[in-house]
Amino acid sequence: MCIGEAQTAASRALALAAQYPRFVFATAGVHPGEAGTYERQRDEPWIREAMTAGAVAIGECGLDYHYDHVAPEQQRLAFADQIEMAASVGKPLIVHTRDAEPDTMTAVREAGSAGVRGVLHCYTGSHELADVALSAGWYISFSGIITFARWTDDALVRLVPEDRLLVETDAPYLAPVPKRGRRNEPQFARYTVERLATVRNTSIDAIGAAVTANARRLLHLPVLSSPSTEPRA
Ligand SMILES: [Zn+2]
Repeated sequence: MCIGEAQTAASRALALAAQYPRFVFATAGVHPGEAGTYERQRDEPWIREAMTAGAVAIGECGLDYHYDHVAPEQQRLAFADQIEMAASVGKPLIVHTRDAEPDTMTAVREAGSAGVRGVLHCYTGSHELADVALSAGWYISFSGIITFARWTDDALVRLVPEDRLLVETDAPYLAPVPKRGRRNEPQFARYTVERLATVRNTSIDAIGAAVTANARRLLHLPVLSSPSTEPRA
């Protein structure tokens, strides 16, 4: 998944997805940190065009009250609009949330009632918000953070049912142990999978199969029988 968290990033993600159609899938949306200049009239058209062009999800969108450079009400406006767009075009949401749990719970509940599915990405929040998301039919994605020495919430890692679990890099950030401090990249997701398997007392293959099936279901990805390593010319 190549995240297009603003207009330029989304067009670059779409170009990569077109170049590697079996391996790379694009998203398009407005990240809460980019929401300061969000205007529906200007931003909705390119987000909708990206969906038509093959983007598989809207996002990252969401709420981040940890940093104060975008006013919370402006973040909520951009997020609410993207939830509406997701309902309208039938695409899932990739949601970023930090220090904004009550408002995220409200938004996820409303999205779920509107039939919108999504994922709380790079999740490290409360069990309560995770329960709200799972009840709404959503997914929870873990990153390399769960491999860090300071990670303590293995109960959260066990709380997510196997059919709602996802894994991500959040590249270039958050490279898992033992690659911590390096630029993160997709191949390092295996360390997060290994950690999930250990904490959940299952096998790496079982986690790998589950997160692959879950990603295909949530994002409507094609199932490919004979992967080629050659990029399309
Ligand atoms: Zn994020």
